[in-house]
Amino acid sequence: MAQKTVLIVYAHQSPGSFNAAARDAAVEVLEDQGHKVLVSDLYAMNFSANSTRDDIVGELKNPELFQYGEETMHAWMEGRLSQDIIDEQRKINEAELIIFQFPLYWFSFPAIMKGWLDRVLTQGFAFSLQKMYNHGIFKEKKAMLSFSTGATQTMFRPDGINGDMNVALWPLQNGILHFCGFQVLAPQIFWCPAHSPAAVRAAMLVGWRARLRGLLAEKPLTFAPCELFDLSFQGGFLLRPEVREECSSQRHGITTGHHLGKPLPPNNQTDAEPENDQSASED
Ligand SMILES: Cc1cc2nc3c(=O)[nH]c(=O)nc-3n(C[C@H](O)[C@H](O)[C@H](O)COP(=O)(O)OP(=O)(O)OC[C@H]3O[C@@H](n4cnc5c(N)ncnc54)[C@H](O)[C@@H]3O)c2cc1C
Repeated sequence: MAQKTVLIVYAHQSPGSFNAAARDAAVEVLEDQGHKVLVSDLYAMNFSANSTRDDIVGELKNPELFQYGEETMHAWMEGRLSQDIIDEQRKINEAELIIFQFPLYWFSFPAIMKGWLDRVLTQGFAFSLQKMYNHGIFKEKKAMLSFSTGATQTMFRPDGINGDMNVALWPLQNGILHFCGFQVLAPQIFWCPAHSPAAVRAAMLVGWRARLRGLLAEKPLTFAPCELFDLSFQGGFLLRPEVREECSSQRHGITTGHHLGKPLPPNNQTDAEPENDQSASED
């Protein structure tokens, strides 16, 4: 396989953590395969999570009413974003795959990683209303979440106390990564390493290393292409009537989010090639 560049955006405070071990495994296996690996170690970098006026160098377009999204879009166009954002945007431009490595915090990213997303994925650089989802700016790139949980796998089943992990992943994978065009690879989930026996933790890392060897060739998750929708404000960006009609005879919704009031397609956000039925979202 041709040499690729992989960016690992990593958020954990401790070099002795399980997340550090997962990051190190990724660096080692990918470099062994001849790929170039860049790591953004967010806590070590003291990366700011705050979207503020300091992200813009020079005058504001509208000092009366500070609008972060508008101002950063102009600053991006004019090369006036702060240096820490520019550095991360360069890494994204270079990378063919981005791996986000983190512990799950409140069903989501740690704040420092959310701040990286808020500040680095600037309008114009990462998305526009014309360029989103499968037409998105990063449609030639891949991205994936690799994270650990405090909860067990059964707690995140559709019948588990936390509810379906597919639902938790929808805003992160669809609303952020795929919105910017990324082809999203299935997440790597390390279930509850802190309360697993040492042998189980070791096996998790062996499994991750094995997956990493074929990662760049993996098929991405399925999302709903823009072509299914009326992409106009007049049409409300709604499913086109003929598509809705076609879906009416189908048992499951289109994706986890586009469920159309039907049973969710099982494992839509966790598996690129889900088996037809598992214990997941059933009628
Ligand atoms: C603010 C906050 C919010 C949270 N919200 C959620 C939530 O919504 N849902 C949820 O499920 N969880 C949640 N958690 C829990 C959190 O996700 C877990 O604590 C975290 O994922 C554990 O990962 P870690 O890397 O910190 O593990 P660590 O505690 O660092 O490691 C676990 C074990 O792995 C060992 N280890 C380290 N390196 C290796 C190695 N090379 N090989 C084998 N073992 C190794 C460590 O020594 C340790 O014994 C939350 C935690 C916080 C602080």
